[in-house]
Amino acid sequence: MPSSNPYDVAVSQLDKAADRLRLSDGMRQILANCRRELTVSFPVRMEDGSTQVFKGYRIQHNVARGPAKGGIRYHPAVTLDEMKALAMLMTWKCAITNIPFGGAKGGVVVDPKKLTEGELENLTRRYATEISILIGREEDMPAPDMGTDARVMAWIMDTISMHKGHSVTGVVTGKPVSIGGTAGRREATGRGINYVTLEAAAYRGLHRDGLTVAVQGFGNVGANAAQCLRESGCKIVAASDTSGGVHNGDGLDPAELARYKSQGGRLMEAPFGDHLTNEELLELPVDVVIPAAMEGQVDESVAGRMRAKIVVEGANGPITPQADAVLDGKGILVVPDIVANSGGVIVSYFEWVQDLQFFFWEEDEVNERLRRVIIRAFHEVTGLAQEQAVPLRLAAVMLGARRVVDATEIRGIYP
Ligand code: NAD
Repeated sequence: MPSSNPYDVAVSQLDKAADRLRLSDGMRQILANCRRELTVSFPVRMEDGSTQVFKGYRIQHNVARGPAKGGIRYHPAVTLDEMKALAMLMTWKCAITNIPFGGAKGGVVVDPKKLTEGELENLTRRYATEISILIGREEDMPAPDMGTDARVMAWIMDTISMHKGHSVTGVVTGKPVSIGGTAGRREATGRGINYVTLEAAAYRGLHRDGLTVAVQGFGNVGANAAQCLRESGCKIVAASDTSGGVHNGDGLDPAELARYKSQGGRLMEAPFGDHLTNEELLELPVDVVIPAAMEGQVDESVAGRMRAKIVVEGANGPITPQADAVLDGKGILVVPDIVANSGGVIVSYFEWVQDLQFFFWEEDEVNERLRRVIIRAFHEVTGLAQEQAVPLRLAAVMLGARRVVDATEIRGIYP
């Protein structure tokens, strides 16, 4: 029985790539281990006067290609191994897109919905202080992930700035535009998925006009991907949230769904079509399925029933390794997370560059640069996949790992 531990899964993906790349044992050990693993336990004063101790992490997987970059997750199920796995994926994501960062990830074991706004701010400021021995605008720059948002980034930026005595905008990305955030960051991951989906359709010989798409998870990633894809001429036939989903063969309007959700509506009850469960959505006979909710949604049995031609991973790790093999066996093209959802980190890089220069770009420029970078990455990965006759995920890890190996070799081993 293969391990479902996220770090074991990430290392086994690396092992397959390392075999193909014929990496030495030493290089494999460098890539399979995280450079820095910080675990912190810290007290927060709660509004009822009590004190509660929280556990948090900041992991830097590899910084051979530049400063570390990666999101911060607030979720009750955060573990050290999950953080290490996501940090490794960030290393590959940055290398595949050829942006000059290494991979990092951080998180706190907490359900942010159970905290008051004041408690969340206290927790964030204390956590930022605890990990300030690692983070910095030229060392390691966090960004939002599940359970964190632009407001949390603003608190981290302010905390580090207070320690330094001046504003350090570049220490986080995904900030509000008013304090050094970039135009286009909020939509970036979904917009990147749009570009990648259109390229994947062409790669499969499908025409973009009327391409039918089902999106699981209608949050930041899913809703923005759906909106951009509709603007590109695709037909969004189903969308879901935790409650379940709505389906309409004539097409749904993502803007209307977003309005409905912002008023507290649940998609399972949305008056725009018939209703279906999340599993039924994943199994629809559409051109493209985009799992954009959370990890582990497509297991072996769901994969066995899936009928899409292409699956584009909006979320991180939505397909289990066993399901991946099933989809590959069925000839379904899987565009892996480390390519498909890299729009967020690409535009985070643009935000950081703008912060360092104190010079900000128009949104059109951000979007156009994003398009160029992510399409180049897609073509490099598909080119390698064809050359080596391997699935896109393996090709993507090979491309990412190869670039980290190149950087490590040219720098040499210190001392
Ligand atoms: P989000 O919280 O904004 O949205 C998640 C959505 O998924 C919500 O609509 C929620 O109702 C829904 N959902 C949760 N569990 C579900 C389930 N079991 N079935 C169906 N729907 C479910 O989060 P997000 O920022 O959109 O992130 C989604 C995923 O994308 C995560 O895996 C995240 O790590 C990944 N990701 C996000 C970004 C980014 O820039 N936000 C970048 C890269 C990867």
